Order: sequence, then structure tokens, then C-alpha cells
Amino acid sequence: MPRPLPRKGSARRTGRARRLLPRAVRIPATASEAVRTARTVRVRGRTRRAVRRLADGRLPSLRGTGAVFTSLTAVAATSLVAVPSVAVPLSAACVLRRTDAHHSEGIDTWNRSYPRPTRALDAVLVFLSFPDAAPLTTPAELASDHFPATSSFFERASYGRFTLRAHPRPEWIEMPRPSTAYAIERDWDTAQRAAYLRDAMAAADARIDFSRYDIVYFVADPDAPGVDSDATKVVNLDRPLRADGTAVRRIVTVFEKHPPDRLVLAHETGHVFDLPDLYHRPADGRGDWDTHVGDWDLMGSQFGLAPDLFGWHKWKLGWLGSRQVACVRGPGTTRLTLESLGAGAGASAGAGAGWHGRRDGGTGWGGDGGAAAGAEAFGPGGGTKLAVVRTGRDSALGFEARGAVGNDVSVCAQGILVYRIRGEAESGEGPIEVVDAHPRTEACWEESVYPPLADAPVALGETFTVPGEDVRVEVEGRTASGAWTVRIVTG
Ligand SMILES: [Zn+2]
Repeated sequence: MPRPLPRKGSARRTGRARRLLPRAVRIPATASEAVRTARTVRVRGRTRRAVRRLADGRLPSLRGTGAVFTSLTAVAATSLVAVPSVAVPLSAACVLRRTDAHHSEGIDTWNRSYPRPTRALDAVLVFLSFPDAAPLTTPAELASDHFPATSSFFERASYGRFTLRAHPRPEWIEMPRPSTAYAIERDWDTAQRAAYLRDAMAAADARIDFSRYDIVYFVADPDAPGVDSDATKVVNLDRPLRADGTAVRRIVTVFEKHPPDRLVLAHETGHVFDLPDLYHRPADGRGDWDTHVGDWDLMGSQFGLAPDLFGWHKWKLGWLGSRQVACVRGPGTTRLTLESLGAGAGASAGAGAGWHGRRDGGTGWGGDGGAAAGAEAFGPGGGTKLAVVRTGRDSALGFEARGAVGNDVSVCAQGILVYRIRGEAESGEGPIEVVDAHPRTEACWEESVYPPLADAPVALGETFTVPGEDVRVEVEGRTASGAWTVRIVTG
């Protein structure tokens, strides 16, 4: 059921709101064929909800059996002290199978209809104008709305294993029909959307060799009267468009304002890599949209304080080496050292400060860690990033250290984050849920997209038993390099 669109021009368009926007606006919501986005603006303790949507088309027929995910046949992490055997492959115990769920969190195989970001990928930005409006911006200005920020996010998130190479076209390419002719909107009619894509591809094909690109962004003139910023989404095509001998399977259709919402393109690009939406769609469209993961993953909210991708996602995408995931098998006690998720080569506590407009320099953070700012305090990025406890055929618990480094530089509360993973859950239906180690308190109320989960991590010195599971985590200390020493006790 479509959510009602609130009035436009809310506080986020004002100067003050724009300053707040990177940390104060909450994003996304849901999926059916299209995914809607709820954005709530918190200004001076008030909440205003603006609703728009991103969207993801879905294409069940593209879900095939992929190649065996060979990199998952890993051996136990060297930082484990008390696992039964270091020679047992991790994959047998902790790898969830990929199911038919749209964007399944299962990782035993890679869905080959999606590009895997383990190599450099080339993305073309095609700028579309319309005969009913003279653009007020230049293609170069719109390109700089999204790049290099989007590429930088992925560079940090992947520890340099993935490079997104943007190729913005220098020119406007004019569509054959007025912007108002396509009825662009959040509940975009399928036929109208198809007409838009067909026209855009036809107009662009003469100038662009699509065979050179892995990802296609169609960026519409934000000032054309028919362009609706609620319509940004990924469209997965039932029948790939053929151009230049290439099958174009999906297109990111961008209808953002100028300037756009922060990291919106990175979120959409996550879908291009088969990552699901992690926000929660309330049944009546009016509840909170961020109850599942709060600030803790870009696919939950592009405005999160700690938007680095979960370690589980990094494992899925191929960004964690085999020794960086510890499969904890019980019963018994396992001691391990977890390096902060955001720490990587070149990452520093101040690396992302420029996005947020506050807390420049990466010092003075809340949290309990006490580690000095700077890359050296967080390790080189090659350590163990994720611990997993299998809890069922299609479920597992993830444990990872979230510190103020890399993409997480603005994190509210540091510590060991615990979350549940469900391989059979659909995108938008809670495939990952953060477990709140402090369910009675909130934090960072004016900045977090969901304050109840902003203090979710298990802090230094604390012990936390995961509700409903016979699993306990004890956060013992920090190493000289800033990593976290942890005990995980299972049944
Ligand atoms: Zn989405």
C-alpha cells in the first residue's frame, strides 16, 4: 500500500536543516516491486517526517545458481585461541545458503546476474535533460554530487579491494518527450517506467558504448518539472536491454535533488551488488523505519552515524579474506581479537569527517575505547573483522567491533555490535537485525537515525547474553593497536 506523500519543502531544505542533514535525517524504507523511503528529519528535538522513496525493482528470474563461492572455504582465524581445530574449514559451519529471497543474505554462492565488486568496475553516468526544461545545473556539477564520495565510501568499506570507477558523460542527452510525459513518481507505473528507460537508452545509445560499463546510472535533470526525487531506485529488468552487444540487466535511475541526499548513490549501488534493504517497513507506513539496524549499515540508512557495511556484507561481497572471519563453534569459550570494522589501509579516525560537518578531526568521540585517533591506533585492516555463531539452518549471529574509524568515524557508541542474520528473509523484511545490548537506553538523540539502537554495542568491560540464544559475549579489553579482545561463550 503506498504511503501518503507529505508536503515537500520541509526543514531539510533550509540551511540549518541541510547542515543537520548528514546526521539528522533518516532514510529508507521498503520494498515490494519498488522500494519506498521514509526520511525523518529531527530538528531541535522535533521529528518531521518527509517521505520519499528509493526503489529497487526485483527480478526473480535473475536469481539463478551462481558459482561456488570458493573464497569461503577458509581456515580458522589465527587470532582464535580456543577453537577446537584451526584446520576445519569455516564454510561448513557458518556459511548460510543463498535462498530464493530477493537479495538473500545467504553467501554460499554468488548470484552471477549481479556484478561482484571484487575487481574494479566501470560505471557510466548518463545525464538526461528534457525538452520542457533547460537544465540549471551542469553534468559536471551533478557528477560531483556523487563522486568521488561514492567511490570513497566503497574504497574504505572494501579495504581497497574494490574500486568504483565513475565515467560521467560531459553532456546532457535530451529525451524525446517532456519530463512530465513519463509520470515519474514513487509508485511509478511499470509501462511509464519502461517507456522512460527505452527512450533514455535509445537517446544515449548513439553516443555511449554500453559494452564498456558494468553499471549504468541515468541521472535526470533535477530541475525538470516532471522529475520527482522520490523515484530514485534500481530497476532490475525482466528482459535485459540490448545495446552495443551488451545485455544491460539493471539501471540505477537517479532523480535526486541538487545537492542530493548523502550516500544515496552508494545505497543504490549496494543493490547493484545484491545487497538487501535493511530498514523496516511499518505495516501502516507510519511507524519507525529504522528499528532493524538503526545507524549500523548503509543499506539500513544512508544517513546513519556508522554507515559502514556490516562485516557479513563484506564477507558476502568478497572483501574479507578467509582469515578475517572467525566461525565460533561451541560449546565452549572462544577468545578472539576483533579489529574495528572500519579500520583498513589508509583509514583513519578522521577519514570521513568531511561528510558530516561536525566533529572534525576525529577526536573527542564518545564511547569507551579511549584509543587515540589515527590509523595506527586501529590496526592495518588485515585482522579478524567478523565472528559468526551459527544459530540455525538459515540463521546466524554476527559479532563485530565498531569504532570511530573509516566509514564509521561518526559512530555514536563504540563496542562489539551483535546482530542476527537470516538468509531466507526478503529484502526489506529484516534480513539483518541488530541486537541491542542496552535496550533500556537511547543515545545521540539528535543525530542518530534511531536513538534506541545508537548505543547497541557491547561496551568495554561489559558482558552481554544474546536474548533467546545460549550465547554470551564479554568485551575484555583493547590491544595496543586498538583492536578489541573478546570472549564468546556458547552453550
Ligand atoms: Zn534500497
